[in-house]
Amino acid sequence: MSRIDMNIMIVGTGYVGLTTGVVLAKLGKEKKISLTSYCIDSIQEKTEMINAGTPPFYEQGLEVLLKEVIKEKRLLASTHIAEFINDVDIIFICVGTPSRDDGSMDLQFIQSASRDIGNALRSAKSKPVICVKSTVLPGTTRNVVLPIIEKHSGKKVNHDFGIMATPEFLREGNAIHDNLHPDRIILGEMNERHGRIVEDFYEKLLSGVPLLRMSIESAELVKYTSNALLAMKISFANEISRLAETIPGVDVTEVMKGVGLDERISSKFLNAGVGFGGSCFPKDVSALVDFTKRQDLVPHLLQSILDINETQPIHFVNLLMKNIPEDLEDLTISVLGLAFKPGTSDMRHARSLKIIEHLKQIKKVKTIKVHDPIAMETAREELSNLKIDVTFSKTIEECIQDSDACLIVTEWDVYKKILPKTYQELMRNPFVLDGRRIYDKNEFSSKIKYKAIGLGEISKK
Ligand code: NAD
Repeated sequence: MSRIDMNIMIVGTGYVGLTTGVVLAKLGKEKKISLTSYCIDSIQEKTEMINAGTPPFYEQGLEVLLKEVIKEKRLLASTHIAEFINDVDIIFICVGTPSRDDGSMDLQFIQSASRDIGNALRSAKSKPVICVKSTVLPGTTRNVVLPIIEKHSGKKVNHDFGIMATPEFLREGNAIHDNLHPDRIILGEMNERHGRIVEDFYEKLLSGVPLLRMSIESAELVKYTSNALLAMKISFANEISRLAETIPGVDVTEVMKGVGLDERISSKFLNAGVGFGGSCFPKDVSALVDFTKRQDLVPHLLQSILDINETQPIHFVNLLMKNIPEDLEDLTISVLGLAFKPGTSDMRHARSLKIIEHLKQIKKVKTIKVHDPIAMETAREELSNLKIDVTFSKTIEECIQDSDACLIVTEWDVYKKILPKTYQELMRNPFVLDGRRIYDKNEFSSKIKYKAIGLGEISKK
């Protein structure tokens, strides 16, 4: 890359887009590159919040960095692509790719973003490389994004603009860290020259990070394969955990520790629990199942990943009811943790919602009290959309007060610090059901009733 200034545009400023835009702007400063991130979103309210230095969602560490890059004018948000298109070298498409009810991918945002970029490109002088960062199935960049951009711009790929697939692998809750220290950068290219431009860009900002160049379709499939494999490890651990619960003395966490020390396996993503949620694993595995079927193949393993995950919240609620004395009526159940994982307010496909839905179907359950350190507002909205009535507790103590069982659903650090004696003193019938294995079973079982996912009857030594 001969120039040392390089401007980028992000289209879609959600979790991926905004954190990417902020981190690239920050890295530009660190590497002394004149780099402005133009962040485009179709929702004006979001762009106004961003320009005021307030992220539209919670993500650890984002607000501080956003304020910094806004103050230094390294990031600017807008609803208009055309305003900045002449100033940008690379455009990252980061809009959502949600799943439809049948599991297939909903491409409406990809289509609208491609159309908006195409329209803006029509009268532009710049020849940007357009990179699809959104998670899209193989063939989408070439057969959906590209024709729409060509049609609306009246221009030709490789001559007037470049097209690439550059999937994103960040984890919500760690998005800033993951953007700063990615394990790898995958560059799917159609044209060698454009691949080199984006490779040079990343090498300037993130030197030393493994970078793989490949075909567009391979890059698209890398993302789905990675997510399906990670989700598979979780569902695998959950299937083994159900078995573990039937064998006195067996603890799935000990088993997985032993298994994970095998270098070929690794202990990561082998934690048994109430299953995976979030905006990626459920929808990406569903989309891959649907895609595999459309290729006339049977997605045996992929389908099982989803089946185990869907039934794990039911299994958890069954485990609860098996451990509630039969004569107890009018139960009050506390749920600690609503966000799909710690460090985020995101409730998309959160297991808490499934668990609460199942609890609601049990006649004996009279009251459900819920708490989350960050996601209460999002949860209020989600639960009201589902027409599910629960009691929102402002504090942990208020949530567990006078309850008959406390379910650990999200492994927030604040819950890890609760002592057995707090449960003992506040609950009507002290019983903790640990869905995320956050407590030391020995410490808890001696003081109060403690059961956990993947824990066979605790052996009495
Ligand atoms: P999101 O829903 O949080 O954000 C998408 C944003 O795009 C929204 O702000 C929306 O208003 C905006 N938008 C929609 N259409 C637009 C248009 N035509 N022009 C401008 N803005 C538009 O989505 P997300 O979670 O950031 O995910 C984005 C993509 O990245 C998805 O494909 C997702 O699968 C993938 N991904 C997400 C994560 C994650 O952890 N969230 C991780 C890796 C990859």
